[in-house]
Amino acid sequence: MDVPAYTPEDTEVPGGEIVVERASSPLEIGPKLNRTAADVVRFLMQQGEMVTATQSLTDDMIELFAAEVGAQVRLVDPGEEQEAELQKLLGFDESEGEVVDPSVEESWPLRPPVITVMGHVDHGKTKLLDQIRSANVVDGEAGGITQHIGAYQASHAGQVITFIDTPGHEAFTAMRARGATATDIVVLVVAADDGVMPQTIEAINHARSADVPIVVAVNKVDRDNADPQRVLQQLSEHELIPESWGGDVVTVELSALQNIGVDDLLDNLLIVSEVENLRADPSGRAKGVVLESHLDIGRGPVATVLVQSGTLNVGDPMVAGAAWGRVRALINEHGEKLNSAGPSAPVEVLGLSDVSEAGDEFVIAPSEKVASRVAGAREHWNRQSNLGRDSSATASGAKLEDIFEQIKAGETTTLNLILKADVNGSLEAVTESLRKLERDDVKLAFVHRGVGGITENDIQLASASNATILGFNVRPNRKARELSEVEQVEIRTYEIIYKLLEDIESAMLGMLAPEFEEVVTGEAEVREVFRVPRIGAVAGCLVQSGVITRGSRVRFLREGTVIWNGEVTSLKRFKDDAREVQAGYECGIGLSDFQDLKDGDIIETFEEREIERT
Ligand code: GDP
Repeated sequence: MDVPAYTPEDTEVPGGEIVVERASSPLEIGPKLNRTAADVVRFLMQQGEMVTATQSLTDDMIELFAAEVGAQVRLVDPGEEQEAELQKLLGFDESEGEVVDPSVEESWPLRPPVITVMGHVDHGKTKLLDQIRSANVVDGEAGGITQHIGAYQASHAGQVITFIDTPGHEAFTAMRARGATATDIVVLVVAADDGVMPQTIEAINHARSADVPIVVAVNKVDRDNADPQRVLQQLSEHELIPESWGGDVVTVELSALQNIGVDDLLDNLLIVSEVENLRADPSGRAKGVVLESHLDIGRGPVATVLVQSGTLNVGDPMVAGAAWGRVRALINEHGEKLNSAGPSAPVEVLGLSDVSEAGDEFVIAPSEKVASRVAGAREHWNRQSNLGRDSSATASGAKLEDIFEQIKAGETTTLNLILKADVNGSLEAVTESLRKLERDDVKLAFVHRGVGGITENDIQLASASNATILGFNVRPNRKARELSEVEQVEIRTYEIIYKLLEDIESAMLGMLAPEFEEVVTGEAEVREVFRVPRIGAVAGCLVQSGVITRGSRVRFLREGTVIWNGEVTSLKRFKDDAREVQAGYECGIGLSDFQDLKDGDIIETFEEREIERT
């Protein structure tokens, strides 16, 4: 089954820049460059990359081939080109729609400012958010049970302020990473007894890069060792010059714990937002951003969205990233059902087909049909680009045991997970339990969750997104396991939920129990195949390395691919049974029920060994 070598041809390649989607296959790329898929496959084989004609290629592979034939390619994310088309379909033509006549904008009503609270851990972000929420419930809504939906609105001096309720940098950076800015003003909390710390500086940088004004809340002034002046001094070293020192940064001293100065902070937020002149058109179809999204056992996919323009109504056909659906219900942070939500309002949306991602843009489509089409197209491209993006053999998934190193290094760490389970019920149960393990310094991000066995797609995705795969009552198929070895993706499978939770928790504490890995113990090449009556096929082999032992577990490889797994059932030196055969000797190997032996095949024996942890 020899593949003829690829020989460069003289056929002209199309001139100029050729647009190629990431993760295209040889079948797609070949014709674009005036070559056949086989040309691409052969060339890559020569480079040591075994690919099939329909397999998604990495950026490197595509560029390598393009260079080989002298073509100039530009790699684009799948869907990048089409996204503009989709925007047109949705009726939001980005090329025309964005620039608004200032006089028109000036005629729009003011909208509430949207605030994100950032700062170093333990400086009082949560306390401040809780304090504002409980003391400043929007009029007429008191009495409802307050829920954390990712954002809430507070009323102060007759005006409404929207707070993003996920303290820390996570939400903010997730938005930014996806090109969305949901925040108008950042409140930077600095504890007066602790001063400017690493995450304080991080927060300053985030706010600056997003070009969002900062209001400083010097917190914990009730503490004996509080030193607000020192905080201002430190801030000025980072070019945040307080107003009291002649600069332009608003600073407020407060105690979130004792509710001192919080009103003063709110006053100042209103002043800053007035300067910002925040306006939005409340008429027309709503548009905005997804703040967070999760799967609720009873209610299905739930997304908390922030409306940024227009008005969102129950019954509207919505697209949120790759999810879509007719809005079934809108619920505010007090658990009350609403009929509509206007600019700067955060609401939970029920009725979407799927969980969206924080930072996804949502829009109301002209019709349900358009909504479903747009979401479907995005879903397809997301999958494609996940496949292609850097899934080269060098990229690899994160190892659970490595997570502790990152935690120790003091960074806020995110453990990326792909979770597969046998049924929806267990998927939800495991997810919920895992969520409870989250700490301030270790977050869990579910790159993908799904029902069913662990597949090659999961491995590709894990590799591209640096994730660990957890299987609950499911296992990887053979191909997936093989790919996981190549891509160095860690797969952990469990049958008992507490074992799973225990492992993740231990990983966070740097105390993972030993793990087992397969170690190759011997390798033999098939030289000749004999048919023995009643026994079947026996492989005449030369042991090339290690030692082949009767009863050991084997993998059967053909052209580098595992085609069978099993056991060495018979082992002979000449006519005699042998217990083991060393490298350099010939032997006859029989493999239980496997008959399809061919010259040149490789028999690899392996065993499981405990991996030492460092
Ligand atoms: P976060 O990590 O920034 O969200 O910080 P938290 O809001 O969880 O606060 C950390 C700790 O500081 C908690 O024990 C709070 O009760 C306490 N704390 C927060 N604000 C104040 C304050 O103004 N004064 C005092 N004395 N303690 C505070």
